[in-house]
Amino acid sequence: MKLLRYVTGDETYTGVLNGDEILRLGLRNITELMLADAAFVETGIIDKLADARVLPPLRPGKILAIGRNYAEHARELDNEAPSEPLVFAVLPSAVIGHGDVIEWEADITAQVDWEGELAVVIGERARKVSVAEALDYVFGYTIANDVSARDLQTRDKQWTRAKGLDTFCPLGPVVVTADEIPDPQNLSIVTKVDDEVKQKGSTADMIFSVRFLIAHLSRAFTLNPGDVILTGTPAGVGKARKPPQFLGDGSVVSIEIEGIGKLTNRCRVI
Ligand code: MG
Repeated sequence: MKLLRYVTGDETYTGVLNGDEILRLGLRNITELMLADAAFVETGIIDKLADARVLPPLRPGKILAIGRNYAEHARELDNEAPSEPLVFAVLPSAVIGHGDVIEWEADITAQVDWEGELAVVIGERARKVSVAEALDYVFGYTIANDVSARDLQTRDKQWTRAKGLDTFCPLGPVVVTADEIPDPQNLSIVTKVDDEVKQKGSTADMIFSVRFLIAHLSRAFTLNPGDVILTGTPAGVGKARKPPQFLGDGSVVSIEIEGIGKLTNRCRVI
């Protein structure tokens, strides 16, 4: 099931995407569905995707992200492959949806980079869970762009601004429920900028698997329904290119993950 949040007319709805149609649900948000199966109520109303403005699929309570989780990507930035997951947080206020604009001020950063990533949506409270059971806590999967201001990342020495600026965490367009993705370690992931392929990877190449990451994170934090984990990006980021390439005013970034869909955002320098 592909779940999304959207606006049609002046109202916000949650629905199930089916081709170019949306089956409207009687739900305020997707998190409600995580808390009670009984919350799934069909209204019988069909909306057209073409008439809908897609919103972020959810508002995460927290976003935990993993750096350097693909060996090839660690290498391209001259970093060693980590021996344990490199964990950081992204501010939930950075989240935007499919079709929204990634924007930044020219005097804050001039090195804005793309990072296409598989995002895991937690569906059940998880604290100190085992690797074997970790996937039982997953509600579904979506796509993230872990947009990164490389100059701030270097200068600040930690990543709160670099990855947490407003609009720097596009998520969506849908959350695909976990039953449709029994193996999250076998998905192709392709990032394009202005229709040119920049990243072409597979989640099979993660250093730390989704189930390992959930178990690891749950030892440090209580994971709650609606929390999101960004699992790291494959090789092919702009900073590693020779010469380096960055996003600019009007750039269009799209990230496609097998079985989930395509997340597209335009950039604007303000
Ligand atoms: Mg990242």
